[in-house]
Amino acid sequence: MTNTISHWVNNKEFAGTSSATAPVTNPATGETTGQVALATVADAQTVIDAAAAAFPAWRDTSLAKRTQVLFKFRELLNERKGELAEIITAEHGKVVSDALGEVSRGQEVVEFACGIPHLLKGGFTENASTKVDVYSIRQPLGVVGVISPFNFPAMVPMWFFPIAIATGNTVVLKPSEKDPTASLWIAKLWAEAGLPAGVFNVLQGDKTAVDELLTNPKVKSVSFVGSTPIAQYVYATGTAAGKRVQALGGAKNHAVILPDADLDLAADAMVNAGFGSAGERCMAISACVAVGPIADDLVAKIAERTTPLKIGDGTQDSDMGPLVTKAHRDKVASYIDAGENDGAKIVVDGRTVIPNGGAEGFWLGPTLIDQVTPEMSVYTDEIFGPVLSVVRVETYDEALDLINANPYGNGTAIFTNDGGAARRFQNEVQVGMIGINVPIPVPMAYYSFGGWKASLFGDSHAHGMDGVQFFTRQKAITSRWLDPSHGGINLGFPQNA
Ligand code: NAD
Repeated sequence: MTNTISHWVNNKEFAGTSSATAPVTNPATGETTGQVALATVADAQTVIDAAAAAFPAWRDTSLAKRTQVLFKFRELLNERKGELAEIITAEHGKVVSDALGEVSRGQEVVEFACGIPHLLKGGFTENASTKVDVYSIRQPLGVVGVISPFNFPAMVPMWFFPIAIATGNTVVLKPSEKDPTASLWIAKLWAEAGLPAGVFNVLQGDKTAVDELLTNPKVKSVSFVGSTPIAQYVYATGTAAGKRVQALGGAKNHAVILPDADLDLAADAMVNAGFGSAGERCMAISACVAVGPIADDLVAKIAERTTPLKIGDGTQDSDMGPLVTKAHRDKVASYIDAGENDGAKIVVDGRTVIPNGGAEGFWLGPTLIDQVTPEMSVYTDEIFGPVLSVVRVETYDEALDLINANPYGNGTAIFTNDGGAARRFQNEVQVGMIGINVPIPVPMAYYSFGGWKASLFGDSHAHGMDGVQFFTRQKAITSRWLDPSHGGINLGFPQNA
């Protein structure tokens, strides 16, 4: 029997009006495990209309009642996150412990949003002018769209929807068509937590669904995460339609290893950040910049840690799972071929991996490439796979120039024992998120996540106070009470007294 993955609207599954679907696969076996509905424009409008209809009542629901639903959702998620992790592994391929890590990081945003009454407090100035008070309030936008990538089917949507819902908006989530089931599981959990019908909705689909979210006047904002060309398109199209848009794009993250660094710690970090989740993380390290005479030692230490990694089915005892689709696996492998042809040295070759998994799985082992130079495609392009390139430079300044010349600016890291060098780096590097002896510096929920340059289009980063501001509009109110003498007729510009 075909497993059909449908839309979710008004707290119920909605099959949609079209028979168009896309296959969903288990990357560890290569099997097609489901067919996800692809929305037509009419389907997208049905979902958006439901979210619009639910907005006035949810906006007017007290903060006390809204937070009760959030706390309940957090409790259910915490109890049952193992189920969600298994769903993620079955469609994405990452190992279950990594999937659980993703859910836990998303849960932290739910926990942040549980504090929304405090976060939504406005300012109040008594007697700004004589017997005149001035204060500010923040109100929800209405229907907000969230469009997410395949690599974090739970965490990335959770960067946005807990805060959007807590602040009184209604949500239409358009997940990646590659791993869409997590979003339905989350939708059912919201219903169980008592969220009213129409507040959280899922629209399955591709460009047709995205385009309707970008142009439908009932949708007031769009939060997008995905590759840079689509992020740029989403930003340009959504803002041209008058919407508030935050569009997070791709990455090419560098780690700089200074000569005084602890090389064992740095080598561990390069393996974890280069090959965790098969390199399919927007904060993965893909370029390791070795400064000065340490390169040979560092490469040897990374290779020694990479060779024993267990590659296999994410539900088994594996360190790293398969890639998300066959097409993506083949594309990543072609970059290794190109690096080899360009003269780089393949130190550990993932193309020859023997995995513990299905013969038809989308396997590619961790690959370490040395002697990479900035002109090679293995360096210039976002590969989004388990490929770690080592670029050798002589000085800190050369390392910094490489990073600052790169079009992306999502994350970066420096490994050193010199506090002054680290402080200089955090000041000089043109990147949004920086790790100091920390390879994947994903900010906590109460800070905001976002890159610079081609890694983010728009003004707001995800979650933290940026999230609260993005999902609300501000009003400033000037009021006068209890003063019968308001000064009479005066056509001059109001002045404070
Ligand atoms: P993608 O850009 O292919 O897809 C992202 C979303 O856009 C999906 O929902 C998809 O259905 C939709 N989409 C795809 N093509 C479209 C089109 N032509 N028109 C309209 N919508 C379209 O990205 P992906 O392959 O799912 O995810 C990987 C990418 O996401 C990588 O580039 C990675 O760096 C990036 N990413 C960035 C961050 C970040 O925080 N900056 C986080 C996670 C992933």
